[in-house]
Amino acid sequence: MSDNNKLKIGIYELTGCAGDALLILDCEMELLDIFNAVDIQSFLMAKSDNIDGDLDVALVEGSVSTEREIEELKDIRKRSSIVVAFGLCATVGGIQARFSEEEWTQNLKEVYGDTEMTHTKAVHSKPIDAYINVDFYLPGCPVGKDQFLNFFTRVVQGAPPESYPVPVCVTCKYNENDCLLNKGIPCLGPLTADGCGSVCPNHDVPCYGCWGPAEGANLTSEYHLLQEKGFDIEAIKKRMSNYSGSKFQEFFEQFKNKESK
Ligand code: SF4
Ligand code: SF4
Repeated sequence: MSDNNKLKIGIYELTGCAGDALLILDCEMELLDIFNAVDIQSFLMAKSDNIDGDLDVALVEGSVSTEREIEELKDIRKRSSIVVAFGLCATVGGIQARFSEEEWTQNLKEVYGDTEMTHTKAVHSKPIDAYINVDFYLPGCPVGKDQFLNFFTRVVQGAPPESYPVPVCVTCKYNENDCLLNKGIPCLGPLTADGCGSVCPNHDVPCYGCWGPAEGANLTSEYHLLQEKGFDIEAIKKRMSNYSGSKFQEFFEQFKNKESK
């Protein structure tokens, strides 16, 4: 806590598009209340007088893709009572973590050749829990405004943030949508963590998985279901791995091995 009894908060950006940090600034009507309710010690996108001291809560956006970010992240963990993986890249690695270690090494070689990295060394992109313990996860690409405000209000009041244990299909059913799969449209709702309120299927647009994998998602079953319905397998694989980072990549490696036997 700071001297004025407010929670000390830090907002940090690793490798990503900065969409989650931007989302906070996009809370225009609530922005003054947010900055008044807590003591924001570090937020590069919003202020210049940043301090690297002890924190009650650190929000970390982005995946870890350089040696320097590994050090930065470990330092944040050391200084913070609570660390939150903020957004999809921090939670599962994001689009930049979709490659296997082997593919990543090959891509790096193709783009940079033998160039020596002097500022910092690139590493295979990973979610932040590959390096530190994470207390809470707030996924989304980017995090939704309502979900952030809900999270922020609970944290300020000392309550644990909401978790998102069910897939998008559950909310989609509550919203009484006709299932897109029955209309011949591939939808990743069964595999994707809910939290967005099934906003895409509510408008007849298939879910493409931007909240990342749902806990316990049965990828094998969904994969076979889509296959049975005649959808293009490579397109399904691509779509499934787009927002699921290292987690689905691991699955596809196993699946590929099974297929080749
Ligand atoms: S439309 Fe998509 S999210 Fe909704 S029930 Fe069907 S598969 Fe699930
Ligand atoms: S329905 Fe799917 S793609 Fe659309 S916002 Fe929700 S999680 Fe993202």
